[in-house]
Amino acid sequence: MPSPSRGSPITPTFSVGARRGSLRRLLPWVARHKGWVGYSLLAFAGARLLEASVPLFLAEAIDLLAAGNWDVRGPVLGIAGAVLARLFVVSSARVAIRRAAVNVAFDLRRALFDRLQRQGLAFFGRHTVGDMMTRAVSDIGVVRRLVSVGTIFLVILTYATTIGFAAMFYLAPELAWMVFPPLPVIAVYALFAARSMRAASEATQATLGHVTERAQETFGGIRTLQAMAREPFVEARFREANDAYRAAFLHQARINSLMTAIMPSLAAVGTLIVLGYGGALVQAGALTPGKLVAFFAYVAMVIQPMRSAGTLVNMVQRGRVSAERLFDILDLPDEIDDQGARGGESGSAAPPVAGALAFQNVTARYGATRAAALSNLTLHIKPGEVIAIMGPVGAGKSTLLALLPRLLDPDGGQLTLDDTPLPAWSLGALRRAIALVPQDAFLFADDLGANLSYDDPEREEALILDAAEAAAFRQTVDRLPDGLDTRVGERGLTLSGGQRQRATLTRGLVRQAPVLLLDDCFAAVDTHTEAQILDGLFKARAGKTTLFVTHRSATAQRADRIIVLEDGLLTAAGTHEKLLAQGGWYARLAKRQGTA
Ligand code: ADP
Ligand code: MG
Repeated sequence: MPSPSRGSPITPTFSVGARRGSLRRLLPWVARHKGWVGYSLLAFAGARLLEASVPLFLAEAIDLLAAGNWDVRGPVLGIAGAVLARLFVVSSARVAIRRAAVNVAFDLRRALFDRLQRQGLAFFGRHTVGDMMTRAVSDIGVVRRLVSVGTIFLVILTYATTIGFAAMFYLAPELAWMVFPPLPVIAVYALFAARSMRAASEATQATLGHVTERAQETFGGIRTLQAMAREPFVEARFREANDAYRAAFLHQARINSLMTAIMPSLAAVGTLIVLGYGGALVQAGALTPGKLVAFFAYVAMVIQPMRSAGTLVNMVQRGRVSAERLFDILDLPDEIDDQGARGGESGSAAPPVAGALAFQNVTARYGATRAAALSNLTLHIKPGEVIAIMGPVGAGKSTLLALLPRLLDPDGGQLTLDDTPLPAWSLGALRRAIALVPQDAFLFADDLGANLSYDDPEREEALILDAAEAAAFRQTVDRLPDGLDTRVGERGLTLSGGQRQRATLTRGLVRQAPVLLLDDCFAAVDTHTEAQILDGLFKARAGKTTLFVTHRSATAQRADRIIVLEDGLLTAAGTHEKLLAQGGWYARLAKRQGTA
């Protein structure tokens, strides 16, 4: 298997070898549940044998009747017993194989979730949530159906063919040979039919996908499009997709009806051959009428599953593609490896961290093929220092912060915390020492309290309220009907943008981490509230290292040092006065904002 390296795109490569491999690689996952699989394979064999005994009893009964003997209790009891027993055996076999399949799906889903959780910013920059959802839901579903329905089809096909032919040769060998010629025709037709039905079904799925996509896009951006009065345009585009879906669906219906209607006619050819030749055998006295009837039953038994051979092939092909898409993710290495020992496991008492940070010629990019988001940055930050980070949009401010808790690893150079390189820290200890409040103020659909104290659900309420106080969020909390127990909706939509920012700021402050990183956390509040927040922040963070991104030079002035990033480069560092004297981006900004 090719092992996808960091930055390589993980779109499937449709080479035949890889596809074969991914099906084989499913085997260990299935083997974990081999008890259930084994039971169902045995039970299906038993069921076929029970089923195959029925025509023999039938033949016996017919021949008894033909001989004028009306006592057919024996064969009738035999049939009844076989049918009843088969009922139990088949249903337990089906449950067993489905149990195995749903367990395989469960394991795969868990492994996938685990793998995805370990990816970093670079991965999530390359993959959409939609793509990951498809893999988790639809690809795993395809694999599950392959394991359950696919296995059922396969064992029925194998068992029915062997047992059916064995019985036919037992009853009338010379007649059995006559059944062979039509079989390849039926099999080939079944494959052809399955292929055209699959093509039609894929076209339907694709057009349905467009319909969903259009709808999602429309309702996701409903406010924008209504504000711009784009409804007629959007409606026309939706109608187009909707039309295409209808057409594809009708085409699929036509193909399916035709293909399935032709199949019985092909099967009838086999029946006619047996009837002609078998009838002659009966007339010549070489075969009893009862045995001829039984023979027909076995012909049906062999032909019936052959009709679904095409469906089986389709399932295997789809399963192969889906399995490969799953292994693409499962094969990913951890984007951020966790080999470091300093700070110990999560849970153990963390040693004190002073909060000295250093960047040594650091270069960072999101994926090997992308341009550097940060180039050759060297910066030393003393414990307890407060740093304001400024610069135009896209300059690399968020990237600089993301490097510290190792949401992203640098491409070149080195970062240290307390003179220890970041990879030498255990990931848990590092991330406990460095609290990051990201730019997008995300709230989980949960209680406000659980959101504010997300790292520690057991934290005392008083501590949370203190942090809220420092973040100028206390008043908002007090005014909420249920205080900290108030549920904030999906993505926290019940709070305003400014309130959300102060909520996430509280979440960062409450941790009292040795290092706090604030990514543009005051953008959505007014200047008065911002001043209030800064007062609270400086008090709460006294003596602790704090880095914050801001766009206001009035805010930046209150830091010990201001650093300016432009296009991934550190272009200035120093106090407000020093940067003003230097001229350049900061001086121009300060002048515009009236702080020069
Ligand atoms: P800033 O925070 O200063 O606005 P960023 O650090 O977010 O800038 O971005 C720096 C550069 O890195 C930009 O060119 C941006 O497009 C790119 N970038 C940021 N995040 C990602 C990501 N997750 N995946 C790919 N590229 C990214
Ligand atoms: Mg940013």
